[in-house]
Amino acid sequence: MARVQLNSIWKKYTGDVVAVKDFNLDVQDKEFVVFVGPSGCGKTTTLRMIAGLEDITTGDLFIGDRRVNDVAPKDRDIAMVFQNYALYPHMTVYQNMAFGLKLRKFSKAEIDKRVREAADILDIGHLLDRKPKALSGGQRQRVALGRAIVREPAVFLMDEPLSNLDAKLRVQMRAEIRKLHQRIQTTVVYVTHDQTEAMTMGDRIVVMRDGVIQQSDTPQQVYNHPANMFVAGFIGSPAMNFVRGELIEESGSITFRAPEISVKIPEGRYQALRNAGVIGKQVVLGIRPEDIHNEEMYLSTYPDAILNARVEVAEHMGSEVYIHISVGGQSMISRVSSRYHYSPGTELKLALDMNKAHIFNAETEETIP
Ligand code: ATP
Repeated sequence: MARVQLNSIWKKYTGDVVAVKDFNLDVQDKEFVVFVGPSGCGKTTTLRMIAGLEDITTGDLFIGDRRVNDVAPKDRDIAMVFQNYALYPHMTVYQNMAFGLKLRKFSKAEIDKRVREAADILDIGHLLDRKPKALSGGQRQRVALGRAIVREPAVFLMDEPLSNLDAKLRVQMRAEIRKLHQRIQTTVVYVTHDQTEAMTMGDRIVVMRDGVIQQSDTPQQVYNHPANMFVAGFIGSPAMNFVRGELIEESGSITFRAPEISVKIPEGRYQALRNAGVIGKQVVLGIRPEDIHNEEMYLSTYPDAILNARVEVAEHMGSEVYIHISVGGQSMISRVSSRYHYSPGTELKLALDMNKAHIFNAETEETIP
């Protein structure tokens, strides 16, 4: 059993820095949880507290059924994989992988079995006699993973393990680590600042800001139902468009208005908006680039949600185009098929899929469900 529970965990560093505030999380056995958020939000500090490399100021940490606040890192049944690999340069790959087991006085035969099995899983069997300097970045990262696997820990802790790799290798290793997780079925807590990595790897993602959990849910839920503007803006690329405006109720229908924008809100949302008391008030409309459409079919389906836009730049990405548009002085991005070509200055009509739109309280920045 490798459940990891963090109950009301706080971390205060000397000098009054509160890095983690009232952190509550229950990581299930075999779950792959990703901590994601901008630099300085407390991801690494939280991971290091789980590892035992950083003291917990207040709160309780459990690994399995054991409270481990005061248990030494080596006795926590965890293995950590770092960004900089931390391999011993003078040792071969084999020796690097065997080192931790040797320290723990495993028999030669057991060490050999575990190292060769891990090398096999990671496809580095042919590299066992090399020294780290004779390996590529991706191979070094595999060795670092291998060194963690041979320990057969209850929990893997990974701190930005892919950030030193080039973009292509990162995508490849992302899938490798997922496959590895499926194969060895161990609980993983993984830290990254990269939202794509979080979205593609996590069973669950924990979005953090200033030491506080903003949302903890499956990638799909976080993407489709962000709890607030911070999460909505952080998850997704290109980022969600935000437009500040006002909700007006006239003759039974509710409209969102901003300079040169007037779009009808779907009736299904009315009750929630009335309950939230935001009619006649400032709100923020959030709409993802893929929910702003240029095709005739959408323009006729959503006649009450049309933008008159002017193209500023069109970025051709291969399979799609990001059109940077200006509407009433507001910059937005729409993501359309690569069949379309737009030059700067083109005037066009775009339709918003208002069923996919998000409305946020302009003061609290919380989502109005
Ligand atoms: P990054 O992605 O840049 O690594 P992070 O989300 O992992 O960021 P942490 O490294 O956990 O963030 O840092 C959280 C906060 O705690 C930051 O404000 C940081 O400056 C502060 N901090 C981290 N380590 C210490 C320390 N040893 N002493 C004082 N403050 C620290």
